[in-house]
Amino acid sequence: MNPGKRPHILLVAALSASLSSVPSCSRAPEKIIEDSRFFMGTVVQIKVSIDPAERGEAGAKDAMNLAFDEIKRIEDVYSVYKDTSEVSRINRLRKNERLQITDGVLNLIHKTLDYSERTDGAFDITVKPLVDLWGSARKANKPPDEPELKRALGRVGYKDVVLDEAAHTIHFKKEGMSIDLGAAAKGYATDRAVRILEENGINNALVNSGGDMYCLGKRTAHELWKVGVQHPRDRNRLFLKIRLKDRAIDTSGDYERYFVIGGKRYSHVIDPRTGYPIGDNVVSASVIAADSTTADILATAMCVLGEKGFGIIKREPGGIDAVLVTFEAGRLTVKMSEGIRERYDISQEKL
Ligand code: FAD
Ligand code: MG
Repeated sequence: MNPGKRPHILLVAALSASLSSVPSCSRAPEKIIEDSRFFMGTVVQIKVSIDPAERGEAGAKDAMNLAFDEIKRIEDVYSVYKDTSEVSRINRLRKNERLQITDGVLNLIHKTLDYSERTDGAFDITVKPLVDLWGSARKANKPPDEPELKRALGRVGYKDVVLDEAAHTIHFKKEGMSIDLGAAAKGYATDRAVRILEENGINNALVNSGGDMYCLGKRTAHELWKVGVQHPRDRNRLFLKIRLKDRAIDTSGDYERYFVIGGKRYSHVIDPRTGYPIGDNVVSASVIAADSTTADILATAMCVLGEKGFGIIKREPGGIDAVLVTFEAGRLTVKMSEGIRERYDISQEKL
């Protein structure tokens, strides 16, 4: 089996820190309850920390069920794998044909187009014709030829997506265009799940949508949530551990979702400007941001941009950090955004 097809991805793992590290005191310790379900081709895990003095377990479980319901709703609306989804309806539009879309879809597409501008087109949801082309190439075990690539590239371009916010419509300015929100909607699903938990009285939780993760509040009164990023070449090891509060961390990389053509390994992240999967220089990018949608988008963008991406995240409002793993001169190298170690309790294993 092509390892790139493995459905279960957990690039970032929630670490089970021992409760014994909590100083003893008269109050009952927090209890962590957790549940995992399969959505969006991956495992989504929710952990909730409940203070028995404040809230019952049953209420927390109800909140978790509602959060999972929201993730299922998002999968139904945003999936390119479902013909009935709103995104699939968008993808059947002919040139200049308009479709009315819901607020959530409009806002997410708006955000991704904004980030296409800010990343000089390194992030681009209109990359789908290229994703499909490389998908067919994988099946045929033969890379696409130049004319095929040129044709697909001609159908890519975020500037040719038109959102009419007043009329709530979308249209494409070119024939044959289509979008893929795979690099943003898992982060968005994480954010929505967190919002639903909060609306239902949960203040301390961790949501992990296959590596797109948000740490809400704390794990215990004395301890932040601790998460780990998987070692790029050994799925049984973590190379980065970090404590977070009210922050998202999302990771993109070549080491879980990749494909092989003629013995050569290709990343699932494509440079929309060239039409080719990114080279083997960037192995992974983890981005820490105030929300998981932004972290998801920028982790993919950093994979395309490499070190140049640090310049972009530095200019972003809200304090964004990144950890980039590159492969240079036969070695894995870790680069981090300036000052990250002062902002976070972070430990890194040598690669
Ligand atoms: P990311 O880097 O966050 O995203 C990479 C993906 O984004 C690529 O696979 C490609 O689709 C796209 N992309 C590539 N390059 C760029 C670029 N430069 N700019 C913008 N986008 C780019 N998987 C399944 O196997 N079965 C399913 O049924 C399924 N359903 C899904 C439903 C939803 C709503 C979502 C969000 C995802 C679903 N997936 C499913 C997973 C999906 O196909 C992607 O593999 C996944 O979202 C990639 O996430 P990532 O964090 O690994 O990588
Ligand atoms: Mg992403």
